Amino acid sequence: MAIFFQTQKRHHPPRKAKYFCPYCHNALYRWKEQTLLTIYKCGNDHCPAFLKALSKLNASEKQLQKKKLSQFKLRYQYREYHFQPSSLKHSTPDKPKINLDRIHHRSDILGLVLAFHISCAITARKTAFILRNVFNVPISYQTVLNYAESAAYHCHLFNLQRKGPIDPISSADETYIKIQGKHHFVFFFISTKSLKITAYHLADNREVLPATIAMTEAIRTAPPDQKLTVITDANPSYAAAIHFLNALRDPLPPLTHHKVIGLQNLDEESTEFRIYKQIIERLNRTYKSHVRPTHGFNVRNGAMALTTLFVTHYNFLRPHMTLNYNVPIPLPELDSITSLQGKWMKILSMAIPSAA
Ligand SMILES: [Zn+2]
Repeated sequence: MAIFFQTQKRHHPPRKAKYFCPYCHNALYRWKEQTLLTIYKCGNDHCPAFLKALSKLNASEKQLQKKKLSQFKLRYQYREYHFQPSSLKHSTPDKPKINLDRIHHRSDILGLVLAFHISCAITARKTAFILRNVFNVPISYQTVLNYAESAAYHCHLFNLQRKGPIDPISSADETYIKIQGKHHFVFFFISTKSLKITAYHLADNREVLPATIAMTEAIRTAPPDQKLTVITDANPSYAAAIHFLNALRDPLPPLTHHKVIGLQNLDEESTEFRIYKQIIERLNRTYKSHVRPTHGFNVRNGAMALTTLFVTHYNFLRPHMTLNYNVPIPLPELDSITSLQGKWMKILSMAIPSAA
C-alpha cells in the first residue's frame, strides 16, 4: 500500500482536507460552493472510478469531453448540504385541536363559516356576527377560527394531493404578511396556463431556503423529463434555489430561469416574460385582499390556516374570467353542487374520508 500511495504523491491531501475519495482515498477538492451545498470532487487522474467512467465513453464523447469537461460527470463527487434534508419541508398547518367529525354545530354551519370567512374574505368576527344575527346560529368568533384551523389541516393535504400536473412555465413571488407584528413571507408559485397555485410556503425570511422549499413543492408533480421554466423578479434567492435544484436534477433537463426586473421593460428578457410576472402579481393582490381584513395574525398557525384555505378556495372554488369562468382545478365531484357552502363541505368530506 505504501508504494501505491508514493506513486500518487502529487495528490497528497492538503492539510485541511475534509473528505476523501472512497475509490482512490485521495483528498477531495472543493469544486463548487453554493449557498445550500458544497460539491467536492476527486481530482486524481488515476482514480479507478474516473478511469472506469472514462472507458465507458465512445470516441466522439471522448473528443467532446476534452473540450467540455464539466458536461461529463466522470469524477467522484461528494455533496455536502448546508442543511438537513428534513428542513426542505413545505410549511403546514398545525394538527387541529378539534375533530371536525364531532363538531357540535351541523356540518352546513361549517360550510357557511368557510364560505363567508374564506371565500368572501370576511373576518372571523364579522362571520360570527352574520351567523348569529342573520342565521340565528349562536357561534363565537373563536369557534370560527377553530373551524378554519381544523379545516386548513385537512385542506392542506388535499391541496397538495389534488394539485395535478403543472404547466411548462411557472411564475413565483413572495408577499409579506405580519405575524405578531413581524414581517413574514408567503412564497407563491403559480402554474401560468391553468392558474393553479402549486406552492404557498410561509417563512420568516425571503432567502434561499424558503425559495428552494417552495420551488421543490411547485415542481414536485412534474414528470422528471418535463422542461420547466420559472419566472421571478430579481430576488437572488430564486437564482440560488434554481442553481441548487439543477445540481440535484442533473442529468434531468435543468430548470430555466427568467427574471423580470423593475416596473418598465428596459431589457428584452423583462419584455418577453412580463406577462407571466403579471399573473403572480395578480395572485398576490387577490391574496392580499383576503388577508388584509385580518390586520395581521396573532399566531403563525392562524396565518398558515388562512393561507391554506385561500389556496383551496383559489384552486378549486374560485372562477376565473381568463379561464372562461372555470376554476383552475375543476373537480367533477363538485359539478352538481350549486352552493358555496355545499362545495366546501364536499371538499372537506373528500379531504377527511371518515367524514364522508
Ligand atoms: Zn478518486
